[in-house]
Amino acid sequence: MNLIMLGPPGAGKGTQAKRLESAYGLVQLSTGDMLRAAVAAGTEIGKQAKAVMAAGDLVSDDIVVSIIAERIAEPDCASGFILDGFPRTVTQAEALDAMLTASNQRIDGVLEMTVDDDALVGRIAGRFSCTNCGAAYNDELNRPKVENVCDLCGASAFTRRKDDNAETMGARLAAYHAQTAPLLPYYAARGVLRSVDGMADIDEVTRQLRAVVDGIGEN
Ligand code: AMP
Repeated sequence: MNLIMLGPPGAGKGTQAKRLESAYGLVQLSTGDMLRAAVAAGTEIGKQAKAVMAAGDLVSDDIVVSIIAERIAEPDCASGFILDGFPRTVTQAEALDAMLTASNQRIDGVLEMTVDDDALVGRIAGRFSCTNCGAAYNDELNRPKVENVCDLCGASAFTRRKDDNAETMGARLAAYHAQTAPLLPYYAARGVLRSVDGMADIDEVTRQLRAVVDGIGEN
């Protein structure tokens, strides 16, 4: 089964994608994580992406499409993947459709998480993640069960993203509404769009998403 998480920055895509990854044995593919790794490693792609990401704008379609094309061709993706942060433009979605069709695959479900814009800035400002395994946390909504210890892997080092600030948030939200929101009618027209209330608490959102995914799995 191949899924896409869709929603604005701060909706909880990464957190929920990780939960679905372990529940259904899917591989989580986050273009944001891949680009941050490229920036940290100082690769050519990282050099091109660094300033764009810091400004909250979208990296070029060519770059992210080539990253994803390479990644989904790897053997671990054959049993299913969950895309988190890709596609973000209709051009990316069309490129994804073309590459999946070429390998006899398809997108089975697009999981939209709806969240009010007003709630997003606060969510983004409070978020941090485990440096070791990437598990996502939030100062207000989702702290580790034991202070300073990752629930998933037990590590004690956490990081905060440089682009998670109020200044960049405006640009990221604008990019979402102008460039990514058109994916909603795109996938609705293909009959694969499912929406859940991303304002509910984290466990309730997981419950709703799992109900949706179970329904897709039965078809
Ligand atoms: P994310 O971790 O998904 O919030 O992504 C962080 C940043 O990486 C975004 O603000 C963009 O600058 C860039 N990025 C990630 N995924 C994409 C994508 N599919 N298309 C363009 N830019 C992306």
